[in-house]
Formats: sequence, structure tokens, C-alpha cells
Amino acid sequence: MNDKEESTRSRKIVWTGLTLVFIAALVFLLGFTHLLSDTVAPWIGLLPKDPHKAALVIMQQAPVIDGHIDLPILIREAYANNVTAVDLEALMPRHVDIPRLRKGHVGGFFWSAYVGCAKREEEGDDFTDATWIVRDTLEQIDVARELIAKYPDTFQLATTSDEVQSAIYGGKIASLIGIEGAHQLGNSIGVLRQYYALGVRYVTLTHICHNAFADSCGYLPGIIPLHHGLSAFGRRLINEMNRLGVLVDLSHTSDETASQAIRLSKAPVIWSHSSARAVHDVPRNVPDNVLELIGKGEGQNDAVVMVNFAPQFVADEGKANIQAVADHVEHIAKVAGKDHVGIGSDYDGISSTPDGLEDVSTYPALIAELISRGWNKYDIAGLTGSNLLRVMKGAEKVAKDLQAAGTLPVYDLYHKRPDLPYREL
Ligand SMILES: [Zn+2]
Repeated sequence: MNDKEESTRSRKIVWTGLTLVFIAALVFLLGFTHLLSDTVAPWIGLLPKDPHKAALVIMQQAPVIDGHIDLPILIREAYANNVTAVDLEALMPRHVDIPRLRKGHVGGFFWSAYVGCAKREEEGDDFTDATWIVRDTLEQIDVARELIAKYPDTFQLATTSDEVQSAIYGGKIASLIGIEGAHQLGNSIGVLRQYYALGVRYVTLTHICHNAFADSCGYLPGIIPLHHGLSAFGRRLINEMNRLGVLVDLSHTSDETASQAIRLSKAPVIWSHSSARAVHDVPRNVPDNVLELIGKGEGQNDAVVMVNFAPQFVADEGKANIQAVADHVEHIAKVAGKDHVGIGSDYDGISSTPDGLEDVSTYPALIAELISRGWNKYDIAGLTGSNLLRVMKGAEKVAKDLQAAGTLPVYDLYHKRPDLPYREL
């Protein structure tokens, strides 16, 4: 055998050996992936078997975008709005601070600029006397924006779906702003436009009180309807929200308001923090006949229902835990589809929390529970954020189209408003 034949032969042996090793590896990967350790699995694109480890791997790519966090009202109540006195790097009271947001794989959230309903005697039957509500709402927006600005390495104000995504890609927590109740508009659609200019991207149509625009579901059963859903003025508000690109949020609304609004809105809608009534029967949760209005069919609209963690909306007293919250997620997914469910914890706005979901660091525990129930990484990514982003993109497109078509701003006045008379000049 000459040198050339010798080297051809050894090359053959090497290649046959390598091929055998390759085939053996392939067979192993296809048939015995369950034998791989959780340390190796992510390197070849597999999820760890341990659902908690799997949750963390998925959430690196698909962090949580929470529909409703009440940090600004905590700052109002505990710090009199003084943002300079707040240290979000340290352990904060209640449920939210930067270290726990990072531990919980949070990629973004709506900062709720919440102001409570006025007492009936303060605002009168026509909702016209509570003159402090717009002021306090502006203060809540100020708290949110100033806290976002105070921690530029952590937070980034986001006003579009693209801005949410670029904040997340940059390692920041995308910070959106929502208003929790149209009573905060002071009966004025002009105020809506100015809130929009300050970055507000959803308005919940009601809080626990009826207002000039729509009926609330109240807090306890038995609230007496005022408009039987939306008022005529409320319909005009939705027209303007669609034109601007402000999401219509149906949490807290009555069933009549929700079913009328989801049909009327040209843009997809949200429930920023609501769970499923079939799982726990309280007025604040969404009933199946409303969930059935979500979808692409005739008479349906796109939406995302972001599940609330408030124990009193999750389960009977003492029974709210991770499994019960997962039951709400799965029920909404079963009735409306997995593309229509999200997370809207209400952290900092609730006085107690479900067992195992004590604060913003615990979202991975909920994700692990759903993985153990068979949710795959795409389902999870929808739940944690991409369902909300799709809905935001839908609303942005509707606004763009309406503006391109020359739709004029709404200047309707609340008919019970005592000021702004037309005068002969
Ligand atoms: Zn709420």
C-alpha cells in the first residue's frame, strides 16, 4: 500500500466513525431527549424538564408585560407623591420594586394612574362637581413619568408596541401608562386628548362607579344600571379613543358596557386586570357570554383578558393560590382562545395576594404551573406579552387608518355640563 492509499483508507475510517457518532447522537436526541440534564437541554434548544427552570428560560425571551400595576397610587398614599423620597432599588412596601421586577422577569407594565371615584355627595347626580379628579390624575401621571425618568437604566417610557419591544430588546422595563376609569376625564373628551399627549394608552371605561360615559359593574353584586351600558357620550368617547389609539379597557365595567363596547370599538380592546366569572362568580370577573364575543368571527372583536390576582376575585376566602390563578388563565384560554389571555396582576393595588404569587418576583411560578399543565413556549409567550402587543398593534393600525381617512377629533360636550354655554358675541 502506498502512502496515498494509506491516507485514503484512514480518511474513510475517520469519516465512517464520525458518521456513526453523528447518527448515534441524532438517535439519542430524537429518542432520549428526556435523559438530557437540565443544564445541557437549553444549549440544544430544548426546555429544561423542571417547569420552574423552563419558565425562566422562556421568560428570558418572553418577559411579562403586566396590564395593571398600581405603584403610582402607593406613591401618592405613602409618599405624598414625592418621587425624590422613593427608593425603588430598595425593598418597597407591598409588591413592586426594581430588584423584584428583575427577579420576576418583567419586560414591561402599565403604570396605573388611578384616582378613586368621588363620593356621591361630592360629585352630585350628574358627576359634575368632583373638580379635583383631573388634578389628581395629572399628579398620578406625574408620579409615573417622574419615577420612570428617575431610573433610566431600568425603565423606559413606551407609547407604542414598537417602543415596548425596543425597550425590552434594550434590557429595559417598558413603561406604559393607563387611566383607571373615565370619571378621571372630568366629563371631557378634550382631557382624553391631553392625557394621550402625556403618554396614556388605555382608559378603563369605569372604575367601581358609574360615570357620564358608561356603567360600572360596581364592587358587590346588585349595582343598579344607569345607562344600561354606554351612554351616547360614551359611544363618542370610544370613537375618539379609536381615532387616537387609546385602548378601550373593559375591566370594572358592567356586562352591558363590555358587550356594547367590544362591538362598537373598531380597535381591539383589553381587560387590563380581570379574571373569569365561571371560575369565581363575582361581578368584577368576565362572564363566558362576554368572553364569547372575543375572536375574529362575525360580531366579534380581538381582545386580551389580562388575569387579575386579587384574592377576592380569584377564589373563595383563603383559597387563592397559583393553581386557582392558573385556572382563570386556562378558562379564558378555553372559551376565548390562548391568543386572548394575558396577565394584569393589580400588584400594589391589592392588600393581599394569592399564596405563591406574593409580588412581582413570582410570575415565573405561575408560568411554571402552566408549563406543568402542558402550555408550550408559544402559548406562554402569548400570555406573558405577545397577545397584548398584537392588540396594541391592532389599535395603532385602526388609529392610523382613521386619521389617514381624515376622521375629525370629537368635540361633543357632556350634555349635563353647566359651563361652556354658547353665547352670542
Ligand atoms: Zn382596578
